[in-house]
Amino acid sequence: MLGEEFSSTSDQEQERLRTALRESEILRELAELLASSLDLNRILQVLTKRTTEVCEVERCAVWLLDNHHDMFLPATYYLSTQQLSQDNIRAGDRQWYQHPLPFSDPVLRRLLAQNGMLALEDLQAEPSLRQFAKKFLVRSTLLVALIREGRTVGMMSLDDPNRQRTFSLSQQQLARAIGQQAAQAIDNAQLYQQAQEERKRAERLIERARAIYQVALTVNSGESLLSVLAIASEHLAHGLSADSSAVALLHQQTLHVITSSPQQPTPDTPLTVALHDIPTCYQAASTGIPQYVTSQHLHGFEKHWFHSLGLSNVMVVPLIAGVDPSEEQQPAQASRCVGFTFIGYQNAQHRPTRGQYAFAQDIAAQCALAIGKERLLSEARQSVALATERANTLDAIFQAMTEGITVLNLDGEVVVRNNAASYFLGLPMNATASLHSFLARFPTYTMRGQPIMEEDFPLSRALRGENIRGERFVTRRIDGVERVVEVSTSRLLNSEQELIGIVSAFRDVTEQTRAERRIRKALETMLHVAEAVSGVTDIHVILRSVLTHTLETLNCDRGIVLIYDQERNIFAPLFSVGYTADSETQWITDQDLWLNPSARHEFHSVILDGHATVINADRCPDQPQPHNHIAVLAAPITHSNHLLGLMMLDRTPNHESDPTSEQHRHEFSIWDMAVVEGIAQLAGLAIEQTRWQQEATTAHTREEAMREANALKDEFLAIAAHEFRSPLTVLMMQAQMAQRALRKYNGQDLPKHIPEGLTAIEEQGRQLTNIVNTFLEVTQLNEGQLTLTTKIVDIADMVQQVASRHSATTTLHEIHCEITPGACPYLVKGDSARLQQILDNLLQNAIKYSDMGGPITISLRQSTEFAGNTFIEICVADKGPGIPKAEQTHLFERFYRVPGVKGSKTRGVGLGLYIVAQLIHLHGGTIHVESNGIPGEGSRFIFTLPALESENQIE
Ligand code: ADP
Repeated sequence: MLGEEFSSTSDQEQERLRTALRESEILRELAELLASSLDLNRILQVLTKRTTEVCEVERCAVWLLDNHHDMFLPATYYLSTQQLSQDNIRAGDRQWYQHPLPFSDPVLRRLLAQNGMLALEDLQAEPSLRQFAKKFLVRSTLLVALIREGRTVGMMSLDDPNRQRTFSLSQQQLARAIGQQAAQAIDNAQLYQQAQEERKRAERLIERARAIYQVALTVNSGESLLSVLAIASEHLAHGLSADSSAVALLHQQTLHVITSSPQQPTPDTPLTVALHDIPTCYQAASTGIPQYVTSQHLHGFEKHWFHSLGLSNVMVVPLIAGVDPSEEQQPAQASRCVGFTFIGYQNAQHRPTRGQYAFAQDIAAQCALAIGKERLLSEARQSVALATERANTLDAIFQAMTEGITVLNLDGEVVVRNNAASYFLGLPMNATASLHSFLARFPTYTMRGQPIMEEDFPLSRALRGENIRGERFVTRRIDGVERVVEVSTSRLLNSEQELIGIVSAFRDVTEQTRAERRIRKALETMLHVAEAVSGVTDIHVILRSVLTHTLETLNCDRGIVLIYDQERNIFAPLFSVGYTADSETQWITDQDLWLNPSARHEFHSVILDGHATVINADRCPDQPQPHNHIAVLAAPITHSNHLLGLMMLDRTPNHESDPTSEQHRHEFSIWDMAVVEGIAQLAGLAIEQTRWQQEATTAHTREEAMREANALKDEFLAIAAHEFRSPLTVLMMQAQMAQRALRKYNGQDLPKHIPEGLTAIEEQGRQLTNIVNTFLEVTQLNEGQLTLTTKIVDIADMVQQVASRHSATTTLHEIHCEITPGACPYLVKGDSARLQQILDNLLQNAIKYSDMGGPITISLRQSTEFAGNTFIEICVADKGPGIPKAEQTHLFERFYRVPGVKGSKTRGVGLGLYIVAQLIHLHGGTIHVESNGIPGEGSRFIFTLPALESENQIE
C-alpha cells in the first residue's frame, strides 16, 4: 500500500514536475519570443495565439490601458473555436474593437484589487459587463491584469465563447505567469514606440530649426529681398509638407504678390489687390495671428485670387515687423503687418498642428525682419542720396554767395572760404592764410578813419568769444580800391559744445554806404526845402527858396526857374540866381535851343515826360558858345503828371581857360538827378498847394457873396409879399366891383375892351396874388413859421380827388391813378391842405411842362425801408421834355429853373418845387426826380411819406 501509495505519490509528483517543466519551457519560449521583438502588434499576436494554446482555451483577448482616458482599449484577440459561424465571427470582430472598457468598471476594480487575477463563472451575471458579455458571447472567463512594476499596462481575458467552464489552478498560474511576461514585453514595446515618436518629433523639430536657421542666414547674407522671401517660402512649404506657397508684401493697405510656387502667377492674376478685398488677410493682419481657411470657406474674389496663385486650402501667415520670435505673445498690430506668406494644401482634410503654426510664424518673423531690413536700407539709401544732394546744393549756394564766408580756427587760420571770400582776400581757393597775414597786408580803419589794431579787429574779438553783428570797417581791397566792409560772425562749436573756431560773413558795403550818405543828404535837403516853403503862399518866394537850397545841396553856383505855358508849349524864365545880367541873357538864348521841341536832341521830350536830364553842349551842336554851359541839370517841376515849370542848375566852372580840366568833378551823377527830381516834385506840390489855397479862398468869397445875395432875395421876398398883398387885394376887389357894376348897369353900348380889360385885370391880379402867396410861404418856411395842422389823411382818396379835379383843367392830358394794394391802408398823418398843395403843384408842373400832352400817372405803393418802417411812395410821372441829369440836383433849390425852357405857358419863378420839397420834409418824407432828359420820355417826381401802419398809430 505504502509502495502503491508511494508509487502513486511519485507519479503525481512526476506529473507535476513534468507540467512544471513544460510550463517553464512554455514561459521561457514565450519570454524569449516576447523579448525578441519590440513590435507591439507582433507581440500581441504571438501572445494571444500562444496563450490559447498553452492555457487550453478557445479565445484570448488583450486590452491596453489608455492612461489619458482611463479606458481599457481593445488591442487584439485570438479565437480558435470551430463552433462559431464565420458570419458571427465577422460581425463580432467589427464590433469588438469599438468597445473599450472603463477603468472604473466594478469587475475590473475587483480584478485589480484581487491581485490581478479574477476567474468568473458567468460574466453575464455581472451587471456592469452583462451587455458586453452578451454581445461577445462570453460566459466563464479568466481575467488577468497585465501589470509591470505596479503599473497596469493592460488586461487579458481567456474564455471559451458561449461556454461555461472552470479554470484549473495550473491554468490560472500559467495565465498569471504569461501575463507577467506579456506586461513586460508590452510595456517595453510601448516605451520603444514612444521613444520612436519622440525621435521623429525631435527630427522634425531639428529640420524646422535648420530651415529657420537657413532663412535667418539668407536674411543676413545681403541677398535681395525677393530671393530671401523666395527661399523662405520654399523652406516653409517643405517644412510644412505643403503643396504650394506664395509671398505678398503689404504697403499702404495694398497687397503686392512677389513670389509664388510651384505655380507662377498667371498673366491674369491680379498681383496688386486691396487688403480689404481679401478678408482672411485682413483678419490675419489685424490680429497678427496666422489664419487657416479651406477652399470650402473661401468665396468670391478672395477664392478666385487664391486659386489663381495655386492656393486652395491655405494658411495665411502675417509678417509682423519688429516681432521678436522669442516673445510668443506679443500684441499684434495691424499697422506693423508688412506682408503675408501663404501655404497651400491640396488635401481639404488637412488641419495644421500647433507646431506647424509655430514654425510658420518663426519663418514669417524672419521674412518680416528681411522686409524691415530692406525698408530701413532703402530709407538709409534715400537719406544718403538726399544728404548728398543737400550737401551739393549747400556747397553751390555757399560758393555762389556774394557774401564772403570764411571759417577761422582758434589759431586764426582760414580753414574754409568761398569764392567771394577768395576773391575779396585775393587768395587762390586752396591757398592757406591767416588773419594776422591778412591784416599785415591790408591795414584796416574805423569808419571815422582811425587805424584798427589787430587785437581790436572784429575777427580777433570774435576769436576771443565776442559776437560780432554787422560791424563796418574800411580797408583797401586786393585791387587797391578803398572799400567799406561789413562783417558778422558766429561761433563754431564741436559736438561737446566747445568753441573750435568762428564763421565770418562779410560783404562789400561801399556802394551801400555811399548810397546811404546820399539818401541822408537828399532827405535833409528835402526837409529843409519843405521847412522853407511851408506856410509860404507866394509862388515866387517858394520857387526862389527851393532853387537856393538845391544849388547849395548840389554844389552849383547858378540856376534859373522857368514857368511852363501849356497852351503855347513854351518855357518862360521866371527868375535866376547867381548870374550877371549878361550871362543871364546868354542863358536865355541857349535855353531856347535846349528846350526847342523841334531840335534833334530829346531834352524837351524827356522833360515833358517828367524826368530830369543833364544838358551838355556835346549833344547840342547848335549852341553858339558850347563851353559856356557844359554841365546843366534840368529838372521838371510837376504835380500829378502836370508840368508846371523847370528848374535848371548850372555847374559849369566859372573860368574859360581850360574848361575840360576838372570836368569830371562837375558832372552830375544819377544821384544828383534823383535828388533834384525829388526836390522839383516837392516844389510842384508846394505850388499846387498854394494854388489850392488861393482857389479855396476865392470859392469861400464867392459862397459868401451868394449867401448875401440869397439873403437879399429873401428880404425882398418878405417885403414884396407884405407890401404887394394889400394893394393887390384892393386892385382885385376894385376890378371885381367894377365888373359887378357893369353887369348890373348892363351897358351894352360900352366898348368891348372895357369888360375884357377888367377880366384881364382880375386874371393877372389872381396870378400876382398866387406869386405873392408863394413868396409869403417861402418867407414863412425860411423863418420856420410854417406849421402843420395834422390829422389822419387817406392819401389814396386824396390822390384820386386831385387827379379828377385836374383832369377837368386839361384836354391834352389823360390823368391815371395806379394804386398798388398794400399791407396797410394808405393813411398818413399830415396837413390835408399842404398835402393837397404838394400833389397840386406836381400835377400842375406835369401838365404845364408837357405841353404836347400825353398820359400823366400818379402811382401809389408801399415800401418797407429804413429800419423796417413802412413808407408810402407817391410818383407823378409825365411824358414831357424830361430834365437833364445835370439840372436835377438843383431842381429843389430856391428860384431854380431849368435853363432854356421856353413858352409863355411855362412861366414861373422857380419856387414851386422848393416849397413842395420843404413841405414834404416837414411831413417826414423825401423827394427826388428820375429822368434821363430825353424829350417824350418825361420825368418822374417821387416822394415818400411815413405810413401809419397799426391801429395804435392811428389812434
Ligand atoms: P416853376 O415851375 O415856377 O419854374 P418849379 O420849382 O415848380 O418852378 O420848377 C422848377 C423847374 O423845374 C421848372 O422851371 C422846370 O424847368 C422844371 N420842371 C418842374 N417840373 C417839371 C416837369 N414835370 N417836367 C419838366 N420840367 C419840370
